[in-house]
Amino acid sequence: MGNVFFSEPHHIFSWEKLGNIKEGREDLGEDMPVVVYRLLEYTMNHILTEEFGTERANELFRKSGFLAGQEFAKNLLDLTLPLEQFVAQLQKILRDLKIGILRIEEIQDNADQIILTVAQDLDCSGLPPTNEVVCNYDEGFLAGILETYMKKRYLVREIDCWASGARVCRFRCKAQE
Ligand SMILES: [Zn+2]
Repeated sequence: MGNVFFSEPHHIFSWEKLGNIKEGREDLGEDMPVVVYRLLEYTMNHILTEEFGTERANELFRKSGFLAGQEFAKNLLDLTLPLEQFVAQLQKILRDLKIGILRIEEIQDNADQIILTVAQDLDCSGLPPTNEVVCNYDEGFLAGILETYMKKRYLVREIDCWASGARVCRFRCKAQE
């Protein structure tokens, strides 16, 4: 193993750090059940909330989602497409990767205000109702994608969620000055 090239430390995220999954999991493959993803997400949420409180934990999830959204956009999306085609591309990839089914409900003022929904959302669809919106990671993820494509900052907040009793997650995205 004298020839192994070591990259920068594990905790510094880059797309390459996701590894060569095909090579590493030749029998098990690239897919795994949603329950495994949620197990990671909601145990992490439990511990972060215990350690730092709800507000801070939500913020940390948003920040992680934002980093994910930026890298996702840079590595998987064609950022040169006009808006309509960009949205179509995003819808397709979110569906292909089984993250959710994206619909744009409203888009105004040169995309400064967008209301969108995600149905069958990876993070929350099917959760027991707790009268909360829980998709903080998705808020950051969407903000990261929008900022990378639109080259302006967005504030994204979830206004309906499966966990709040709705059938889809609905997000309000507002460009920031
Ligand atoms: Zn949700």
